[in-house]
Amino acid sequence: MLARYAPSQGKLFGDSTGTRAVLRQAVAEDLLLLVSRFADEENVRGRSSYQAMERVLREQCDVVEEKVELKKKTGGEVMQNPSDGDATYDGHKGPGYQVQIAETCSGHNEVQLITGVEVEPAHRSDQDAAVPMIEQLEAHDRRPELLYADGHYGSDANVVDAAQRGVDLQSPVTIIAQQMPDALTIDDFVVDEKTQTVQRCPNGQEPVYSVHDVAKGRTRTVMEASHCSACPFRDQCPVKQVRGEYVIEHTPAEQRLASRRAEQATDAFGENYAIRGGGESVNAGLKRKMGMGRLRVRRLPRVRMAVLLRCAGWNLLRALAALKQRGIGGFAAFLDALASLESLLRRLKPWIEVSARFEPRKIAPEQQTPMLAAA
Ligand code: SF4
Repeated sequence: MLARYAPSQGKLFGDSTGTRAVLRQAVAEDLLLLVSRFADEENVRGRSSYQAMERVLREQCDVVEEKVELKKKTGGEVMQNPSDGDATYDGHKGPGYQVQIAETCSGHNEVQLITGVEVEPAHRSDQDAAVPMIEQLEAHDRRPELLYADGHYGSDANVVDAAQRGVDLQSPVTIIAQQMPDALTIDDFVVDEKTQTVQRCPNGQEPVYSVHDVAKGRTRTVMEASHCSACPFRDQCPVKQVRGEYVIEHTPAEQRLASRRAEQATDAFGENYAIRGGGESVNAGLKRKMGMGRLRVRRLPRVRMAVLLRCAGWNLLRALAALKQRGIGGFAAFLDALASLESLLRRLKPWIEVSARFEPRKIAPEQQTPMLAAA
């Protein structure tokens, strides 16, 4: 085994003649052997190399009756590099980390600035990032009334959670409804939000009954057969004929989704949501101008710091550009003058007489207070 792993990384497994699957199985067996062999040796267990092997074995293999099997699917939360255990994998973005960013976008702002930053391993889902970002913005007194996000952030749960925090989360519904363009939905029915029961159908008819089952979280509504059978909207209506009854069932989430879908089909939504496109230029700018696509640091705390500094730098560049536009051409000269003054003060410091108020106070012997010394 020593001979197999002795060559440099570039030559590792270079002598392997079998398929990739055979090679991976051989490595998995070596891993199991080493991890088991040193499992009871405290001085080895504490080493980062041992812990990395143990982690790779746990994440990528199953051990069944002392035999090791490679997992068919491992997911993204697996070690990518033994020297950076915090980096994980995303099928779309690759190995490493990802950054969640919130930015102002009102047309009334003179300058748009980054207001929230979170760094996380690459495998994390965007769905899980929306609420923590709102919490971060809230904690810094920057909670927005309206938050535009792409479709990955807009689950029903996130929209509801955001609304409870006073934030209108606008994010396109990504689930495509399989229906005719002029089809009616539960959103076209009048539903009492408190009781979740249907009050009227799109044709203005009251149901025979509408009952919300709290345990199941579903509402069952039965319409009058004579109304439905003669209704001009029958072909577009989602009511189904079940054992002679005209029935529609819905959940609050389905109703909210239908409502969002209807709202997002309007021109007004398209016009307002177009502002979201600006966020992509920030992402591209941070990579291109601030070098955020490839950071030369490892582990999450350092990556986080590197990202925060770059975002702060981005905000400074934006603020300076705004000042320049405002016509404060001398701002750079002002900063230069400030820097020169600071350097001058630093050089003169040894000669500057310390003000008397900063010197130790001299107390006359008769004014001194007795003091106990204890050791
Ligand atoms: S088919 Fe029935 S439920 Fe649907 S709109 Fe017509 S009357 Fe109302």
